[in-house]
Amino acid sequence: MVIKGTALEASARALLKQRGVEVPDIAELVLFLQKKYITDLNIQTCIDNVESVLTKREVQNTIITGIQLDILAEKGELLSPLQEILTSDEGLYGIDEILALSIVNVYGSIGFTNYGYIDKIKPGILAELNSHDGEHVHTFLDDIVGAIAAAAASRLAHAHPEQSQITQ
Ligand code: MG
Repeated sequence: MVIKGTALEASARALLKQRGVEVPDIAELVLFLQKKYITDLNIQTCIDNVESVLTKREVQNTIITGIQLDILAEKGELLSPLQEILTSDEGLYGIDEILALSIVNVYGSIGFTNYGYIDKIKPGILAELNSHDGEHVHTFLDDIVGAIAAAAASRLAHAHPEQSQITQ
């Protein structure tokens, strides 16, 4: 059975919202990544690019898979040792980053550079998702959000080749 694209997109968007991530939060990350390259870049343009990324099936599939694992970990419903690995956000696990890579390159390889950069700096919503407040598990979500921002930044860069990091 193939899930209808519209149903899949609605589920992915609802899950992001349910986990406290709104499109403007991701757009702020895009602005952070691209403002030094594109003059007069505004938040609305960043929002539009995030919206485009969210229409991609591979992105939606990654969102519903990663967030599902975070939710199950939060409820204590995973088998050991995955349960402990996800609740402690163990640094050597790495599968959260690997899963997010399926998003990063949908608009070309600049996304890969942006993803690595934003994952190191962790601005805005990424810092909140990484706060490990003890109540929530966002082991997959932080990488997914960073990857969506990186892909949107890459899409923007390709739309402005004369001003962007593409020419550098
Ligand atoms: Mg993570």
